[in-house]
Amino acid sequence: MGLRLALACAVIAAVATARAQYQVYWGDTHGHTGLSDGKGTPADYFAHARDVAKLDFVILTDHDFGNASPWRMPKENWQATQAAAEAATTEGRFVAIAGYEWTSQPKYWSGFSNGVGSEHLFPGPPRFYNHKNVYFTNEVDYLFSAKDAAFQTPDMLAAAVRHAGGLIQNNHPSTDAECREQFKYDPDWSSVIANTEMLADAIRYKGKTYRVNGERVVREFLARGGKTGFVGGTDSHEGKPASRTAVLASSLTRDGIFDALGHRRNYAVSNARIVLDFRISGHFMGEEIRIAGKPRLAVTVQGTARIKEIVVVRDGVVCHRTTPRRERTRFDWVDKAFRVSSYYYVRVTQADRDENGNPSRAWSSPIWVSKR
Ligand SMILES: [Zn+2]
Ligand SMILES: [Zn+2]
Repeated sequence: MGLRLALACAVIAAVATARAQYQVYWGDTHGHTGLSDGKGTPADYFAHARDVAKLDFVILTDHDFGNASPWRMPKENWQATQAAAEAATTEGRFVAIAGYEWTSQPKYWSGFSNGVGSEHLFPGPPRFYNHKNVYFTNEVDYLFSAKDAAFQTPDMLAAAVRHAGGLIQNNHPSTDAECREQFKYDPDWSSVIANTEMLADAIRYKGKTYRVNGERVVREFLARGGKTGFVGGTDSHEGKPASRTAVLASSLTRDGIFDALGHRRNYAVSNARIVLDFRISGHFMGEEIRIAGKPRLAVTVQGTARIKEIVVVRDGVVCHRTTPRRERTRFDWVDKAFRVSSYYYVRVTQADRDENGNPSRAWSSPIWVSKR
């Protein structure tokens, strides 16, 4: 064996060992309690996540607004959220994370002309930044509210959150007017605004179909060169978190969960716990890689029901599709059409139905590939 090959083998072995340490942990990155417009206490929320939903981790994200002027969550509520998360956490068994929902609302700008605002906190025309969840591993004195002029834009928020050591996700993207400036931030913030909630384009609820276009809006952001991983959240207001985000982490600790989320080593599910492993040329979901030759995609899926369809999306378009019709499958696929630079993600659809008639889906975070 030549020296180069021996070195290459040693490097591959080290990488393989490091990767073998990742495990899939299940969580929910979005939910509310009676501290904003949901039900119950933070302790109730964490107990449901741990004991009923059997989650590995959960992030509690009450709205940053209080119930009266000046429209901020009272500091004692924020500190109570952090204390409850600390009390509910036993690393290695269950991790509770304190967060909040940065809730930007157009009615707080003075130019709002299409209704009656509660208070005009900011000058100028209304902005449509939508909502973002913010969360921390460490204790933070007070949250950075969307109603505070110092944190009124996604760029201002991202600067503060990066300084405080937290992460941000874009919430419930859709083609609604309130979301149209959701991704209006400096692309350099992708290291702190690491993820986006993934939603199907059409969702059935109580007999009606709602065209929210969640996946479409995310694809449009990716098409503009945006970088984001995919997470899921129930946005429960009933105190009932459930499995919506899987992370690939080396330990069930706050640091392990944050390391995964910060590197987009995570994926979204809409309902069932579909186990999805997606790699390109040995690299994990969420990575930006440079390769020689053509990308080799390796996909392994362990569903909870028959898998109706697996698609690979390249640069916004389905480039490969399989219909396995069984619960477990794996395939390798080489993209011979690859040229210089592309992103890929995988979407899995099961042949099951939830109580509203929606199939269970899973969306891997993308992998961005450039030619070396
Ligand atoms: Zn929201
Ligand atoms: Zn929410």
